[in-house]
Amino acid sequence: SKREHIRNFSIIAHIDHGKSTLADRILEKTGLITARDQRDQYLDRMDIERERGITIKAQSVRIPYKAKNGKDYILNLIDTPGHVDFGYEVSRSLAACEGSLLVVDATQGVEAQTLANVYLALENNHEIIPVLNKVDLPSADVDKVKVEIEEGIGLDCSHAVPVSAKTGIGVEELIEDIVDRLPPPEGDPDAPLKALVFDSWYDSYQGVVVLFRMIDGKIRKGDRIKMFSTGISYEVVRLGVFSPDILDIEQLEAGEVGFFCANIKVLSDAKVGDTVTSENNPTLTPIEGFKEAKPMVFCGLYPSDSVDYEQLKQSLEKLQLNDAAFSYEPETSQALGFGFRCGFLGLLHMEIIQERLEREFQIDLIATAPSVVYKVETTDGKTLMIDNPSKLPDPGRIVTLYEPYVSMEVHVPNEYVGNILKLCEEKRGIQKDMRYLSATRVVISYELPFAEIVYDFFDRLKSGSKGYASMDYEFSEYHSSDLVRLDMRINGDPVDALAVIVHREKAYYYGRAVALKLKRTIPRQLFEVIIQASIGNKVIARERNAPIGKNVIAKCYGGDITRKRKLLEKQKEGKKRMKRMGNVELPQEAFLAALRLD
Ligand code: GDP
Ligand code: MG
Repeated sequence: SKREHIRNFSIIAHIDHGKSTLADRILEKTGLITARDQRDQYLDRMDIERERGITIKAQSVRIPYKAKNGKDYILNLIDTPGHVDFGYEVSRSLAACEGSLLVVDATQGVEAQTLANVYLALENNHEIIPVLNKVDLPSADVDKVKVEIEEGIGLDCSHAVPVSAKTGIGVEELIEDIVDRLPPPEGDPDAPLKALVFDSWYDSYQGVVVLFRMIDGKIRKGDRIKMFSTGISYEVVRLGVFSPDILDIEQLEAGEVGFFCANIKVLSDAKVGDTVTSENNPTLTPIEGFKEAKPMVFCGLYPSDSVDYEQLKQSLEKLQLNDAAFSYEPETSQALGFGFRCGFLGLLHMEIIQERLEREFQIDLIATAPSVVYKVETTDGKTLMIDNPSKLPDPGRIVTLYEPYVSMEVHVPNEYVGNILKLCEEKRGIQKDMRYLSATRVVISYELPFAEIVYDFFDRLKSGSKGYASMDYEFSEYHSSDLVRLDMRINGDPVDALAVIVHREKAYYYGRAVALKLKRTIPRQLFEVIIQASIGNKVIARERNAPIGKNVIAKCYGGDITRKRKLLEKQKEGKKRMKRMGNVELPQEAFLAALRLD
């Protein structure tokens, strides 16, 4: 049958181990693209992705391939996002294939996301081919890394494939292995239509484009289809594959991968993980594992200049068209005026959206410190979800306060284990496990409050391990915690946008540190500025900025005119990112003061 000649596979790897480079090399060796076409990395389309070296949007490619056995195959390479924030999308992309190439950098070894990705692949019953990459580098140690994979993960490495994605060594052999070692898809072309949505995006001409994997049945242009989770029906107006450019196709059947357009207007009507079926002859059971992606991290986004409010609103609308996991709602702050409360899957997702707003849409933003979502049981028997610290009810109204925890795995060379344990303890972590992956690499498991990660965890992890530690985490559950709201006051007035929720035991430390940080970041004014931290009405820290009388240029003694000009320009630049609070100007940095307490 047709299915015998199809191989659906993904490439999984820890970041920077060479996933994108290998994908490009496979496309080149199979003749799908020429070296000349390779704008950097074909699969990473967006600028920000390229700069950050991560792939955010999954892109799948159909690769026709004539194997050494003389037969013609279709290889569907299904790309996966490469970051912990997008774990659910990764699992859905993997659910669309039968096998994966596990790329491990032979100069680095197994890392946190190597393991996390392997778990996801095994959950999806994948056949996994271990690929040891970067063998062109003198520091590559293929045998050592094989042992690490065998002992740490339990994957047989006797047929692991050494390659250099960069130079192409071993890649042709690897492509043959995809055909020989990965299983073809199963499925019944005569059963009712059942297809898995593993990616979707909004296109201004086509409406929503849906990438899907056929599990059972057939789909044709003109068919009436139905999305399982919403029950809404559509007509397929376009059907095709990316190879790598768009190729229109009349019919796809069980085992194949493609895209369709069906005049779907909003992305939330074609969610990743949903099942596509036929309107007239629907399947009875949807594909397992469908979840709604839920924002986990929130922050306020405000235009630095309030005249940009409308433009910010329109830009958020546009971004949401293409990102069902991103949410926003209007919000008003006494300190910042009119803006939006925005929800993200995680910190990276948040940074990407903030960057796009500033870069693509050219809006100067004030972003408040990110917050997790707290759960509060109140004295009047209600349960509230709080995504903005300033909205936390007064202590007298709270019966129990809960915060989200994550399960985390950290991979670290053994000489840094002490630092990492200390960090996790300081972050209120509960140790679950510690084991050796090899003689020199350790895996540490912790349950930690998510809020502590949102603070400076990642930077501290990196600095505590000279950059060698890697981590992966997933949401586990809510735990009750002794937390308080810390308000920051400027000349007596609480600034809502500076409120933070912290553990009671750390409140004094935070209060003092944030007050000091504000003292340093708020430019001195012509009058005295008093900065206080308080819990309820109780002031726990106080700082003071003395008035300044002289023009800032007076600092440049002498006549260095370029230096003066630079200083003025810098001042002007700084202005854009300021917000006036009463008569005090607060720079963007002040709103993130709690995050970097150095
Ligand atoms: P990804 O994050 O897994 O997609 O990793 P990339 O494909 O972006 O590769 C990360 C870095 O490693 C880039 O600078 C690549 O040029 C480099 N790289 C990837 N494969 C190889 C290889 O086989 N040899 C060498 N020397 N460098 C490689
Ligand atoms: Mg990449």
